[in-house]
Amino acid sequence: MFNDMKIVDCHIHYSSNIPVDEMIRILDYCDTDIANIVVVPDRAKLSAVQDALILKHKLPDRIYVFASLDASNYFTKKKTLGKAMAKYALRMREAGCDGIKMIEGKPQIRKMLNVPSFDAPVWDPYFAFMEDTAFPILWHVNDPEEFWDKDKIPKWAMEQNWLYDETYVNNEQQYEEVLNVLKKHPDLKIIFAHFFFLSKQLDRLSEILDKYQNVYVDLTPGIEMYINFSENKEKATAFFEKYQDRIMYGTDIGTKGVVDGKSASKEEEKRRADLVKRYISSKADFVIDEHYSYLMHDNDFTLSPLGLSKKIQKKIFSQNFLDFIGHAPYEININKVLAEVRKTIIKLCLMKIGDKSGIKYDFASLKKAYKQLEKI
Ligand SMILES: [Zn+2]
Repeated sequence: MFNDMKIVDCHIHYSSNIPVDEMIRILDYCDTDIANIVVVPDRAKLSAVQDALILKHKLPDRIYVFASLDASNYFTKKKTLGKAMAKYALRMREAGCDGIKMIEGKPQIRKMLNVPSFDAPVWDPYFAFMEDTAFPILWHVNDPEEFWDKDKIPKWAMEQNWLYDETYVNNEQQYEEVLNVLKKHPDLKIIFAHFFFLSKQLDRLSEILDKYQNVYVDLTPGIEMYINFSENKEKATAFFEKYQDRIMYGTDIGTKGVVDGKSASKEEEKRRADLVKRYISSKADFVIDEHYSYLMHDNDFTLSPLGLSKKIQKKIFSQNFLDFIGHAPYEININKVLAEVRKTIIKLCLMKIGDKSGIKYDFASLKKAYKQLEKI
């Protein structure tokens, strides 16, 4: 609870790099009552869905899971990709996942996995399945627009190698592809992560939200989002009032654990979550210093928060995600999850045979998860 309000975080990350009990402590410490783990593909073990489901089993009323897609399909099922992904999404649903996370629109992931254009016909069966079954997607599309500009990209992003030259997909091209997908499948249930990276172009985002009633955005930083809102506060406030039913609280808690293999400190995660809460609820300007949290900024800067009404806060902090999802977290089907882990181990063995990059595959983590799941 935060200010007597339930907190539902639609966007956190988790993998077994973070011990289960530590993750529970972090969620409690951040006043998170309910959280949605959005799983991303794992270079060393292909999938971390089993880890998220183990945490879900521990906290069955508190955790939703959006599974990553099967990244091996980008290499082995090129011609039937959409069909293979639709099948996989159904298996994830049967195993007890509540939706799908697509990190594929993050340019460096798209490049690494050689993901075909989202509006290519090969994707169709997948999006048709997601639309027909109302199985939701949390979709990361693009990145802050500065990342395509070597003169404007912040230092911390440069250090992550997030400067996108012409070998990466262009952000406008990707917006076009995604809007084509929506044109073909207008009932898709989608949360676009990080405000769809349109916090500087609110009129453009308005048009999309007006046109597609099942499209939502989350408030997960991208710190640039809060800087953009602060610089244009009147417009941002009007936007939040108009679209108060379409905006969701999200934080990216757990990212560091998934990306670096080391979890962030409780304090660091809390500061990140507090930034979002404070920006929505408080009225007084506040300073973010350069040590505030990871992936934030290079210099101190001041944010001018929106101080929205309690009624709107409640929607953003909990109601919108709960209405969007429309059910309690699905129950895990242990046999199906075990079957998935076995499949992942086999796929990883095949990948290892064909791979000369020397990457260390993490069979140990998959086997450990399997043993844990067997005991459930
Ligand atoms: Zn994320």
